[in-house]
Amino acid sequence: MNPLYRDTNLVLSAEGVHRSFDGFKAINDLNFYLSEGELRTVIGPNGAGKSTFMDIITGRTRPDEGTVKFHESDGHDIDLTKLPEYKVNRLGIARKFQTPSVYNQHSVFDNLLLSLNRPRGVMKGLFYKMTKDDREEIEEVLETIRLHDRRDELAGFLSHGQKQWLEIGMLLAQKPRVLLVDEPAAGMSDEETERTGELLLSLEGKHSVVVVEHDMEFVRQIARRITVLHQGHVLKEGSFDHVSNDPEVKEVYLGRQAHG
Ligand code: ADP
Ligand code: MG
Repeated sequence: MNPLYRDTNLVLSAEGVHRSFDGFKAINDLNFYLSEGELRTVIGPNGAGKSTFMDIITGRTRPDEGTVKFHESDGHDIDLTKLPEYKVNRLGIARKFQTPSVYNQHSVFDNLLLSLNRPRGVMKGLFYKMTKDDREEIEEVLETIRLHDRRDELAGFLSHGQKQWLEIGMLLAQKPRVLLVDEPAAGMSDEETERTGELLLSLEGKHSVVVVEHDMEFVRQIARRITVLHQGHVLKEGSFDHVSNDPEVKEVYLGRQAHG
């Protein structure tokens, strides 16, 4: 355990994680600790292992070695490397993939209604009778993702950026403890990117959030603690200024950013 984290309230910890694909080390002795309510940004060049690491946390990919633990609020540790994806999700670990997947033919409001974490079997599609609590939860999410004035619009008519916010909202409706977001600003306008940053910042303290991102302007906007991944290993961790002024980071990442 990294002594820096010994006294903090951890929600996730990965230690000594390795994963190879046909002899190529995509993840190489990775150590990563996430605190409750933290907003963490993970950067690194293409192929650094960022998405693979998310795959490992969510049970989509198994590590060859190492531990990945979810620390429950009651003090129990759960080994995520033994669980199938849907069980990891049910623990409260939600993942946002790059492309938005919303129900285009349903309204914004109904997309959120369909995402509420209700006992399976209860939600019979749109024939489910909404409770007062449901409505309040949806209102709260609409507020957070700033789509309250579009609630009755079909999701299919939203812009790319708005669809991304709706999908983040659909994950928030499940009240996740951990939210993993892979390149949320990709393909967004500057204004949408900035609003996405504000949205992610507003989650701080309420959820533990890991954002993988390339756009350095965006990273600067949401920067708290930043983890720089390189060749499947944590190269540096710290503030935006700390990592962006680091010669090694400049060498492996910032200097090459023009090439993706
Ligand atoms: P990043 O998200 O940082 O760009 P990835 O995690 O997607 O990087 O990929 C890291 C490396 O692992 C890449 O070289 C990629 O080709 C390789 N890789 C990832 N997943 C697989 C897989 N399922 N099979 C083979 N190689 C993979
Ligand atoms: Mg990736």
